[in-house]
Amino acid sequence: MKIECRRIGKTPVAFQLETKEARFFGTIVFQKGSLFYVKGHIEGHFSAPCDICAEPFDTILDEEIEILVSDGVYEGMDERLDVVEVMDSVVDMDAIFHSEVELIKCDYRRCQHCKT
Ligand SMILES: [Zn+2]
Repeated sequence: MKIECRRIGKTPVAFQLETKEARFFGTIVFQKGSLFYVKGHIEGHFSAPCDICAEPFDTILDEEIEILVSDGVYEGMDERLDVVEVMDSVVDMDAIFHSEVELIKCDYRRCQHCKT
């Protein structure tokens, strides 16, 4: 799902994406200058091997996502949220979804057994 920046105003635009393992839904709204604010939720589950014992295990995804999207290179530095830059004035929600899920996956590489 791609959203053109010029279509995003002060009224939040809803989005919803789904893959076989997860769902990402929420809204994107104009914030200021060339910044857009994304607030969403990722839920689902995936199976991946444990880093320690290599046994695949199931992890529940249940994450609040809050990021800023910058139309063009972001030059500020005072934002408390991660900023994703888009270069063609189009927000690629699938790419954001994918990278957020990858980030979450990096956090969960130990099965319950190896954590304790
Ligand atoms: Zn393990």
